Amino acid sequence: MPRRIRRNSPGRATAVALEAGERLRIVNHLGQQVVDTWAHIQGDIHECLSMEHCRDKLYKLFFEVGDVLISNRRRPLFQITADTSPGRHDTLCAACDARSYAALGLGDDHPNCSANYRRLLGEAVTVPCPWNLFMDIPVDADGRLSDRPSAAGPGDFVELRALTGLVVVCSPCPQELIPISGVGRPVRGVLWQRLQTGDEGSPALHPTSDCKEVGA
Ligand SMILES: [Zn+2]
Repeated sequence: MPRRIRRNSPGRATAVALEAGERLRIVNHLGQQVVDTWAHIQGDIHECLSMEHCRDKLYKLFFEVGDVLISNRRRPLFQITADTSPGRHDTLCAACDARSYAALGLGDDHPNCSANYRRLLGEAVTVPCPWNLFMDIPVDADGRLSDRPSAAGPGDFVELRALTGLVVVCSPCPQELIPISGVGRPVRGVLWQRLQTGDEGSPALHPTSDCKEVGA
């Protein structure tokens, strides 16, 4: 059975260290929750998952099962080994921050993914562009972007296999005005499963009594 199940609560980022060969599932157990996701080499926050380098290497906007994502120094970091969601994970949008919410009229102190990242990794760090798991931002033929509510269903997950020693960081996005995480839904947590040898093919998590939706 899968072990080390962790909940990533709304309003903060969580980090999980992985050794080469370990796999991690990020489970959207209540559905539609966008999750800003970063990774960096263990012991070197400056070598990090880079959306621009991944797009350049893979020559596409959306990454899929089998793709190897790389760092800003072009080192392979992890492979996407499973994805039960519809597979749209934005690679273009910056993490939300205090100013992005102020521009939407939501005040100067709205919870945000950039602050969650800095609270965990240091106030002085630059926040890299996240891999926005479950965030569906279509790009039309003229290159324009639009917002769609996430199509990720309850229990959908993305699974990664580390190719080197990594730290993966996730922040469930608290954006509620633009309905990227569903219409009229409060920010929810997500679950983590670190998979052990022998867990291959294990089912996704389902909502449990200790994983209630915030506001529910
Ligand atoms: Zn956010």
